[in-house]
Amino acid sequence: MPDIIALAPAPPEADWRAALRDLVTSADTLLDYLQLQPEQVGWSPQAASDFPLRVPRDFMRRMVIGDPADPLLLQVLAGRQELLASSGFGPDPIGETGTANPQPGIIHKYHGRLLLLVTGSCAIHCRYCFRRHFPYSDNQNSRSEWPAALQYIAADDSISEVIFSGGDPLVASDRQLAELVGQLAAIPHVTRLRIHTRLPVIIPQRVTDSLLEALTDSRLATVMVVHSNHANEIDEEVAAAFGRIRKTGMVLLNQSVLLAGINDNAAVLAALSERLFLAGALPYYLHLLDKVAGAAHFDVDESRAKALHREISTVLPGYLLPKLVREIAGAPAKVPV
Ligand SMILES: *Cc1c(COP(=O)(O)O)cnc(C)c1O
Ligand code: SF4
Repeated sequence: MPDIIALAPAPPEADWRAALRDLVTSADTLLDYLQLQPEQVGWSPQAASDFPLRVPRDFMRRMVIGDPADPLLLQVLAGRQELLASSGFGPDPIGETGTANPQPGIIHKYHGRLLLLVTGSCAIHCRYCFRRHFPYSDNQNSRSEWPAALQYIAADDSISEVIFSGGDPLVASDRQLAELVGQLAAIPHVTRLRIHTRLPVIIPQRVTDSLLEALTDSRLATVMVVHSNHANEIDEEVAAAFGRIRKTGMVLLNQSVLLAGINDNAAVLAALSERLFLAGALPYYLHLLDKVAGAAHFDVDESRAKALHREISTVLPGYLLPKLVREIAGAPAKVPV
């Protein structure tokens, strides 16, 4: 692991706050920077009004100027294809509302672990996001709702792992996170804390000393799962953030979504696994796309997905091979493909 990188000092608190205030939300800013015309990329104001453009400046700077098919650009671009209705693609593809959402802020589908929706907002809007239509307004995740969520967890002693999710849980302040971690650690049957987040990849300045202390200053065993889909997302600053996370002893994993036009290519997937490992993270899952309305153009069919997975299994060491899975509403776990 890159120890030399890990020794770089952590960024000050102010940096990530500034980055979060300075998100790119206008097509003009994005396309001017990339020197592209709206029609070259199929920009759709209507798609952007359904689910607004949102991308951190730092992430934008990792895109290749002049390339309308840049794999980072395609993850955030509101395009015309999103408006096409596709059969089988709906607002809640993986069954997160209803019985899986027993009360605001909790998604409990699998044995022994559940999601705690720490906040409804994200620092980036990924066009393929399966929660792009999630009723966040019914799941405000305000601190006033945490006591009820914590009571739910305390009342069910089969729950050994709590997963901070969202939105992006690391949009919350260190103080709020520390408070939640402390309250979870006070529930005897909770032994593991997991954080699902994209922030260390998109705004690596978020990984401050104070954040890491908030997450690890308890008896809970802690694992972080970041979310990256392409090796171009992982520059030296991101690698340095991973290094800081690893220095705490936290396990660091990555999950990706298989996305047509972005990473549905064996060389691209293999490069991602190798880059992740050099930066300090192990590949965990490669998800088939959840069939959410507006994202049909990212879909890779199952037989191609399997062929790609077989192909990368012949060039990667076993520990760099992510599990190919899909989410099926009502299934007791993610389903291996
Ligand atoms: C993905 C997910 C988990 C975690 O599943 P693992 O297979 O343990 O990574 C837990 N709860 C919900 C609702 C999920 O969607
Ligand atoms: S960071 Fe995750 S939750 Fe947020 S928009 Fe992207 S995929 Fe969705």
